[in-house]
Amino acid sequence: MPPAKLSAQGEFLSHLDPRLWDQVRETLKQTLGLQIFQNWIQPLIFKAYQDHQVVLEAPTPFIRDWVTTHYLETLYKAFRQQRPEFKSLTLNVFSSSSSGPLPIVEEMTSDPARLDPLSSHEGDERLLIGSPLDPRLTFENFVVGKPNELAHAAARRVAESTSVPFNPLFLYGGVGLGKTHLMHAIAHHIQHIHPRRKVMYLSAEKFMYQFIKALRFRDTVAFKERFRSVDVLMIDDVQFISGKDSTQEEFFHTFNALVDQNRQVIISADKSPSSLEGMEERMRSRLGWGLVADIHPTTYELRLGILQTKAEQFSFSIPPKILEFLAHKITSNIRELEGALTRVVAHTTLVGRQMTLEMVQDVLRDLLKSYDRVLTVEDIQRRVAEYYRIRLADIHSPKRTKTVTLPRQVAMFLAKQLTSKSLPEIGRQFGGRDHTTVLHGVRKIEELMNTNAAVREDIELLRKTLQA
Ligand code: ADP
Ligand code: MG
Repeated sequence: MPPAKLSAQGEFLSHLDPRLWDQVRETLKQTLGLQIFQNWIQPLIFKAYQDHQVVLEAPTPFIRDWVTTHYLETLYKAFRQQRPEFKSLTLNVFSSSSSGPLPIVEEMTSDPARLDPLSSHEGDERLLIGSPLDPRLTFENFVVGKPNELAHAAARRVAESTSVPFNPLFLYGGVGLGKTHLMHAIAHHIQHIHPRRKVMYLSAEKFMYQFIKALRFRDTVAFKERFRSVDVLMIDDVQFISGKDSTQEEFFHTFNALVDQNRQVIISADKSPSSLEGMEERMRSRLGWGLVADIHPTTYELRLGILQTKAEQFSFSIPPKILEFLAHKITSNIRELEGALTRVVAHTTLVGRQMTLEMVQDVLRDLLKSYDRVLTVEDIQRRVAEYYRIRLADIHSPKRTKTVTLPRQVAMFLAKQLTSKSLPEIGRQFGGRDHTTVLHGVRKIEELMNTNAAVREDIELLRKTLQA
């Protein structure tokens, strides 16, 4: 790198290296397509390239987070393609004076010598043995509820202990429920309080890839060395190596070597140790020796808590009823829930429209459809009629007496909230009413929900029973 020159603005000109950014942007335009490029990459500002580290700035926290979740790997690759010695990337929010830089990628091992043996085979491509940590996956950002309290407590214990409280810690649960989040949180915490402890996090898939590569280059001794010198080893999604015999064998030896030396091992999988098919019996039994903690499917309370936490992190407020709607509807897992929220926020930001329930339903139409199999407008009408003790036919009829109008509007409101049907579609199922009538009904109930406790309770109760 040429010696740094100070410009009139006091910036180090040599650190700007504008050609690098131009080249990277060109690559990104190709790989991501023009639309994505214009929305997400164009707004980024290239601030510096120094000590093989790139600093970028995003105009808003939201763009920073979106780029981090969606395009980080692509950015990483593009920089590495231009500068093989490129090490890491930092994405800050533009002119953020108080908050320090947020490193979005960091490497598990801070000692570069530990990376050398394998990378020499790779020419310019640098080989990381551990995977990068996502800085957002911390304990602070992890919302604790009934379904995950055991796993969370166990993870905390491992992260805070200087000894090895249980070995291994085996975390399991369905997809998108927080296993990876907890593992990263453990790694962050240990790195923070014991910077000298060597923590290595990687997916089982990556473990296999590295192992096969070591075999190919007859480098298995260095491979073993590297794993066996860590203090804490975390292997994510270990079900991946089910049925892959030689990788499993190697993993088993690594695992035993570490446990014998009293090093902490943390494993995650989508099933309990005993249910891991394609895994050798001795392996399954060994995995269950420490503490086995499962993460259960989410509850409404946990989903709402997570949404509220995430919403606070965005820079504009999201109406509570939208968060409640999402928590009611998106029940599969947290990743999908987060994805839905991000989509809604992205949409609002990009089109500059106000966030309303209608818009949310519109933006998430495809996603919501998959949840609608169970609950139909007819179900809602039937349940509401029962609840208010009117005949189902009255809901469809043109009658406008008070005893049927309120239930009818409640049913419209619930149909709008709990299904992804549009206003005209709902209108048709209410005796062929116009969409403006439905809209009027929905608004009327929204208003009553704020002013009339009895109506609010009716609706909460109905919603609970409909979604049970
Ligand atoms: P898994 O590894 O179990 O498939 P992840 O750990 O990748 O799931 O979680 C999926 C997403 O949900 C991540 O973005 C994660 O941050 C988020 N998430 C999961 N559990 C929680 C939680 N309890 N609080 C906050 N965010 C969570
Ligand atoms: Mg995971």
